[in-house]
Amino acid sequence: MKRRLPDVLQRLERGGLETSTHATVGEGDATLAAAEAVERGFDIIIAAGGDGTLYEVINGMAEKENRPPLGIIPLGTTNDFARALGIPRHWDAAVDVILQQYTVAIDVGKVNHRYFINIAGGGSLTELTYEVPSKLKTMIGQLAYYMKGLEKLPRLRPIKLNIMTDAGEMQEEVMLFLISNSNSVGGFERLAPDASLSDGLFDMLILRKCTLPEFIRVVTLALRGEHLDDPNIIYLQTKFVQVTSPDYVQINLDGEFGGTLPCVFTNLPRHLHIFVDETGQSSYKQTGLPLPHLPNLPNLQQLNLKLPWKHKGGHDEDEQDKQDKE
Ligand SMILES: [Mg+2]
Repeated sequence: MKRRLPDVLQRLERGGLETSTHATVGEGDATLAAAEAVERGFDIIIAAGGDGTLYEVINGMAEKENRPPLGIIPLGTTNDFARALGIPRHWDAAVDVILQQYTVAIDVGKVNHRYFINIAGGGSLTELTYEVPSKLKTMIGQLAYYMKGLEKLPRLRPIKLNIMTDAGEMQEEVMLFLISNSNSVGGFERLAPDASLSDGLFDMLILRKCTLPEFIRVVTLALRGEHLDDPNIIYLQTKFVQVTSPDYVQINLDGEFGGTLPCVFTNLPRHLHIFVDETGQSSYKQTGLPLPHLPNLPNLQQLNLKLPWKHKGGHDEDEQDKQDKE
């Protein structure tokens, strides 16, 4: 990533944006940098990194009153949210999306005092994403999650939950629960097929207590997006969820550790504006593009940008190098 920084800045400046960068130095630093950028009145904030960076940046922005639009340059090991929004995976195409200055408003999930934009979950399975060492993530990317998942399967244990939603209250023994904002999470492209990022509703999926063969069947169905009718699945849409448990249950927010139950999840409708491709034609897989001809935009000349670069433990650094080889 550091190697790519001058190219990214040059392309932004050729597009008429005056930039200021921040290289993050560790966990939580992107949150502080984003909060400071909002307070200092920057017109745009750009998160360059993966889902972990984005999670930190939105946590720095979400509580502020005047939130500038957010650009995403997906340079991490996992970029679920960028993919859900069709933000191109290659850095130059992603920069061009920002330069086009077209935004959509998206919902943000609030959990106790934290925020998420992609997915929240709890249960023994969801504990695995942050258990994967970051070095392993860099080496084998997404595969690391599945390997860790397979290793953990026999250790799955049900948890007792009391769940309150817009529809009422229920007590269930469950393997895991997911509260999704987008429809695509962690390699499951159709986890919540009807989820919308801007309808003010969470898509909630609950997997009831089941046997290991049933669990594997549901996961297989979920890979194809055919799991919602399975008797082991409870699916609903809701603005509000309160979850309590007599068990110790960790919460995962956008792939990061997000505290433990009890939790109150509230949907903040259309809370953040994110730069996306207006034509809807770009995709996460799109690769390098020539710099487009851009008209002179005098009102953009004085814009300041904040770039919370992230290289926590160095694991985001070489992702673009890998992409370039693909
Ligand atoms: Mg929604």
